[in-house]
Amino acid sequence: MEYTNSKRLFEEACELIPGGVNSPVRAFKAVGDYPVFIERGEGAYLYDVDGNKYVDYICSWGPLLLGHQPETVSKAVMEALTKGSTYGAPTGIEVEMAKKIVDAVPSVEMVRMVSSGTEATMSALRLARGYTGRNKIVKFEGCYHGHADHLLIKAGSGALTFGVPSSPGVPESIASETLTAQYNDIDSVKALFAQYPDQIAAVIVEPIAGNMGLVLPKEGFLEGLREVTAEHGALLIFDEVISGFRASFGGAQKVYNIMPDLTCMGKIIGGGLPVGAYGGKKEIMMHVAPVGPVYQAGTLSGNPLAMAAGMAILDELAKPGVYEEIEAKTKKLVQGLQAAADKAGVKIALNQSASLFTIFFTETPVDSYQAAMTSNTEQFKVFFQAMLGQGFYLPPSQFECWFVSQAHSDEDIENTIKAAEIAFQAVAAL
Ligand SMILES: *Cc1c(COP(=O)(O)O)cnc(C)c1O
Repeated sequence: MEYTNSKRLFEEACELIPGGVNSPVRAFKAVGDYPVFIERGEGAYLYDVDGNKYVDYICSWGPLLLGHQPETVSKAVMEALTKGSTYGAPTGIEVEMAKKIVDAVPSVEMVRMVSSGTEATMSALRLARGYTGRNKIVKFEGCYHGHADHLLIKAGSGALTFGVPSSPGVPESIASETLTAQYNDIDSVKALFAQYPDQIAAVIVEPIAGNMGLVLPKEGFLEGLREVTAEHGALLIFDEVISGFRASFGGAQKVYNIMPDLTCMGKIIGGGLPVGAYGGKKEIMMHVAPVGPVYQAGTLSGNPLAMAAGMAILDELAKPGVYEEIEAKTKKLVQGLQAAADKAGVKIALNQSASLFTIFFTETPVDSYQAAMTSNTEQFKVFFQAMLGQGFYLPPSQFECWFVSQAHSDEDIENTIKAAEIAFQAVAAL
């Protein structure tokens, strides 16, 4: 493939934008020299500025569960645009959106829309602190909750990929209020509650961890979090920015039947436009301004274009059989990839949940952050480049998920498996 235009744009971008990208995960630093620049997306495909076509397994890192430009979503946005793009005043569609989320997500009785996942988690934690009158929070090593100061401690996603899980610029006074525990290790959480009784406002967790690669909750882990937080008067916050409307229409909390106190959402609920949301028990949400004292606001919150896109994608997802269809495709892909790895004699650990999965280049089953860290990132890099060269666009990091959409056809899946056979052979030849 030719990448002349991508190369030229990247060189120019590096002079104008830090690292040439507006979000670190888009850089290909961990897997190569420069990212491909995208011209357009359609269904399961991306087209770059050099005319190369790729099957897209990033899908904008989660929002595009129906693929690029699903007709109903595009139509809804264009229709909304004919009435205006923002008013800074309440609209009917915000009420519809709130109702849709409250009806779908079991623990959510009231919801506030914001413009990103970062804003959702940041606001939920402020609310938890305001509500409990406590300062400390517990997060898990390798989980990513956006880039608010107190959440960039041992964080996952790009922070992990680029080796800065705890960012400079976060004052020690703020960092010291964040305690970190080990995902899937309830004793590590209990130990923190024993050490800091009556000081912990909330435990925030990705119920299905997606930012150190995909790691599933072990049986009893989420139940344990529910029990220990309730026992100590701390709130349990589920960060469902990835898992919301992906694990199921009601998110991971519906699959695992655990009711958190607060839930953060983003990605899918915006249908590809910038959106986030946080919600939960009415009694807690009534502490948010203007009805309560915990302040939080947003000029573009509940933006009518974003609400139109979100409503349109959720209406499609509510149709019977959609989740089953996407999961069946994912299972077929995952089985084919495992077989391809076996055939080439490459040892992998493959984790899958709904339409998410990660191939870890390790022999160790991955049920923890430590296990994920045993992955061979050199092998990943070779695999990634071999797939890219054959027209398959994967997350450019070992520690991210592949995202499958409804738009991926059986043929796309079969072609991906065939390409992976070649890519695994390249890994085996290392
Ligand atoms: C992507 C993500 C966020 C941050 O959302 P942004 O919209 O990028 O700010 C928060 N939590 C999780 C679990 C995420 O995957």
